[in-house]
Amino acid sequence: MYQTKPMEKLEMIACPKCGNPMPLKRRELGYHVCVNCSTVSAKRGIPVMRGTGDHTWVDLEVMTQEQFERYEEMENKTKSEIRPNKQTKDNLQGPFTIVETDN
Ligand SMILES: [Zn+2]
Repeated sequence: MYQTKPMEKLEMIACPKCGNPMPLKRRELGYHVCVNCSTVSAKRGIPVMRGTGDHTWVDLEVMTQEQFERYEEMENKTKSEIRPNKQTKDNLQGPFTIVETDN
């Protein structure tokens, strides 16, 4: 009896887009480029309001997956900064001086 190896060696081919090695299996699954290339080429559309006054229309901003993630990160960060920390506020009692700090 013998054990099968945990990692079967994959046959590699060169990605036609960037030239980096990618598993042949990947092409058999219907992908023609490596993981890196297919992630980069994934596009996301964000509806954006454009124009002023009566001339407004919704445009679709097309960005890469990477840009989209950065955009979402920015959105989440903005929201969390705006949200007031209510619990702390409710716990405040008595007279005190609010000292403004730079951070
Ligand atoms: Zn590639």
